[in-house]
Amino acid sequence: MARRKKIYEGKAKTLFEGPEPGTIVQYFKDDATAFNAEKKDVIEGKGVLNNLLSEYFMVGLGQIGVPTHFLKRLNMREQLVRSCEIVPLEVIVRNYAAGSMSKRLGIDEGTQLPRPIVEYCLKDDALGDPLVSEEHIAAFGWASQQDMEDILSLTLRVNDFMSGVMLAVGIRLIDFKIEFGRVYDGDFQRLVLADEISPDSCRLWDIETGRKLDKDVFRRDLGSLTDAYSEVARRLGVMPNTPPTMGKPTLVN
Ligand code: C5P
Repeated sequence: MARRKKIYEGKAKTLFEGPEPGTIVQYFKDDATAFNAEKKDVIEGKGVLNNLLSEYFMVGLGQIGVPTHFLKRLNMREQLVRSCEIVPLEVIVRNYAAGSMSKRLGIDEGTQLPRPIVEYCLKDDALGDPLVSEEHIAAFGWASQQDMEDILSLTLRVNDFMSGVMLAVGIRLIDFKIEFGRVYDGDFQRLVLADEISPDSCRLWDIETGRKLDKDVFRRDLGSLTDAYSEVARRLGVMPNTPPTMGKPTLVN
């Protein structure tokens, strides 16, 4: 693994210097962590599945005009992405109550929310990624007003796309987390969707059975995480050498 300079090692991914300036190789590890890394394991095959799934979502989002950092998949575990300056926020969208929102507000998991609710958390592991308001974001300068407007509109587009893609294969998108980065083209700065979109960062429930197909399987010891992620990949036709069970969604303008 000493072929390239390591830039950063996170909980689920390692970043290496890319072949050209302004590029980064994103390597998907098999490590799974939960509760701010209090629970840890190595789940064989998770990195490959997340690499393929994140590619699938990022490419689809690019096709509907959502700018992303994704350039191309290099192999089963690595993808080439544009280097960007990460906005220090985790942007969470909730369509149904679950997880920390259910705990915080006492709403039963699975309750449909009156509309998608967007929350922001500060990306800070030492503080446990605390929930912050737009007031905090503006006052501490973590993102500008313009950034926040762009982040909100892009986030809602990501939610519409992801909800539709999942619905087409019988999966309900309960919630998810995304991150944004800034890329610079000369003096011009724009936001791109960064990091990854995978069952590590979404809650995905089978519509028929309610079966969880996301990282809650690991967090709550509900069975095999690879089986759950493979099921998502299989339904989307992303599993290597398996045809999709249902047609891919057709996007109509
Ligand atoms: O834990 P919570 O209910 O706030 O999580 C909301 C959504 O954001 C879930 O889909 C979870 O997987 C994702 N998330 C994440 N990374 C975090 C926190 C939450 O991917 N650090």
